[in-house]
Amino acid sequence: MARKFFVGGNWKCNGTAEEVKKIVNTLNEAQVPSQDVVEVVVSPPYVFLPLTKSILRPDFHVAAQNCWVKKGGAYTGEVSAEMLVNLDIPWVILGHSERRALLNESNEFVGDKVAYALAQGLKVIACVGETLEQREAGSTMDVVAAQTKAIADRVSNWSNVVIAYEPVWAIGTGKVASPAQAQEVHDELRKWLAKNVSADVAATTRIIYGGSVNGGNCKELGGQADVDGFLVGGASLKPEFIDIIKAAE
Ligand code: PGA
Repeated sequence: MARKFFVGGNWKCNGTAEEVKKIVNTLNEAQVPSQDVVEVVVSPPYVFLPLTKSILRPDFHVAAQNCWVKKGGAYTGEVSAEMLVNLDIPWVILGHSERRALLNESNEFVGDKVAYALAQGLKVIACVGETLEQREAGSTMDVVAAQTKAIADRVSNWSNVVIAYEPVWAIGTGKVASPAQAQEVHDELRKWLAKNVSADVAATTRIIYGGSVNGGNCKELGGQADVDGFLVGGASLKPEFIDIIKAAE
């Protein structure tokens, strides 16, 4: 089964309402391949989700950048998966390396979040990836496998999961993984899924790449056999994001 190309824009903790409107206007006017060819999802900060959703073209969708690990309640400052469902927000990004590093989110905690969000009916972009130190120590695949295993241990239906392989050393650094480096990890990750989950999940789950993707490097990266799209940070705030969407063609 063909895996539809997926392009996510992670706006992180950036922007004002005015800037959001500007970015969305640019996206709304863009000529891009149809929904049959590419799935486009943008992820504004929480407070701008309703605004973004209300003005964004209907063929693009929105994602939250995080959600709470269980049912809402006395968890000051958190937003629950149920609330996202209530607002018709279809997607959530979980396990981003910035949250793993800055907020100490463990593999198990991320796995619990993924399982809970899926159970509420959300679709999940689950992020994995190694640090530079881990890569240089030769443990890239061990790290990525452990992060994926924590999800696999808790999830049985993978149809609403997209895995984002985002090497930490490539995020926001301008130091993109080479197409060969990305392909190597994506291929190994797919083999890991085949061995530890199922051949069907390995064949159908989209594995997207993130880390310094831009208008210049997207075409070659996207041309790799196991790279099914991108999760884009910095460049998703710029008109260049449209060129990245077009890499699906
Ligand atoms: P970047 O971020 O494109 O700015 O490197 C990617 C991400 O964190 O998802």
